[in-house]
Amino acid sequence: MFIDPFGRPITYLRISLTDRCNLRCVYCMPKDGLQWQPRADQLSVEEIVRVVETAAQGGVRRVRLTGGEPLVLPHVVEIVRRIASIQNIEEVSLTTNAMLLERLAQPLADTGLKRVNISLDSLDADKFKRITRGGDIDRVWSGIAAAERARLTPIKLNTVIVRGLNADEIPALAQLTMEHDWHVRFIEVMPIGNAQDWGEGFPAPSERYVSVQEMRSALSTFDMQPSTTPQGNGPARTYRIPGALGTIGFISPLGEHFCQNCNRLRLTSDGKLRSCLVIPNEVSLRDAVRSGQALESFFEQAIAQKPERHDMLVSTPAGSQRGMSQIGG
Ligand code: SAM
Ligand code: SF4
Repeated sequence: MFIDPFGRPITYLRISLTDRCNLRCVYCMPKDGLQWQPRADQLSVEEIVRVVETAAQGGVRRVRLTGGEPLVLPHVVEIVRRIASIQNIEEVSLTTNAMLLERLAQPLADTGLKRVNISLDSLDADKFKRITRGGDIDRVWSGIAAAERARLTPIKLNTVIVRGLNADEIPALAQLTMEHDWHVRFIEVMPIGNAQDWGEGFPAPSERYVSVQEMRSALSTFDMQPSTTPQGNGPARTYRIPGALGTIGFISPLGEHFCQNCNRLRLTSDGKLRSCLVIPNEVSLRDAVRSGQALESFFEQAIAQKPERHDMLVSTPAGSQRGMSQIGG
């Protein structure tokens, strides 16, 4: 059983399948000039399966596929099928921008995917296009409908809140839960990924951050009540508007640490184990998996480096930090 130095069992693996994406959300990636990882550095299906097999032997029960955009990989359905059939893996889920979900929801569900989290930062089509630099909100709606038909539920919608961009939409996004059994989760923007200037018409770095406390107070008229977390809700603090079908969650990587319950390990898109989103310690598995070595000691090494908590602040400079797309946001 994998247990970290602070007694936390490691039961959850997030895999960034690729650093590539069909969108360029302003907070995540620069518009251009991106250096993609060489494809040869990325793990093959076979290699990912070996890593997950070792993880499962050590006690990992849930796997989330993310990126970058996992659905741009031509073999994503095959990856789900292979991971879902690994002994002791109880749940495979996926985080996506939903641009390609309409066509893939059913094949993914048929091969063992259980749930999807979908990123949706605005209800306004033009603003959505601006934030994602080219995204089509109609494709998100048809992706959500297809996910519901395929029973990839409960559906969670992830919204990164940025002052001067979409903070004014918090009440309208929360209202979605009145009509739909969706779980809308508001997330604090982190100074990683693209923390630099986003260009004309976008808020400056020092203006963007909105704390979860402020997000909650934007909903003070709704009389939200604390609620049980829907399946696998991880770090969200969850509420329900009386009579609503869905719930509202707040995720505060900066203001309200959730480190004390962290059960996660991450596999980066270039085959490194990383025990914390923020702290840059990594253990490379790529060469070991390619040369057929046993992988357990690499897991133990990565878990031994898991910090008790991170110390990222709103003002932490992004520096040479890897973005969410490589680490697996
Ligand atoms: N492409 C998929 C998507 O957008 O859902 C999966 C990968 S994306 C990196 C995963 C999540 O990370 C998204 O919900 C995105 O909003 C979030 N994210 C990316 N950069 C972020 C940042 N700087 N602060 C907070 N959340 C961020
Ligand atoms: Fe792509 Fe997701 Fe990053 Fe947006 S948040 S650029 S969809 S990886």
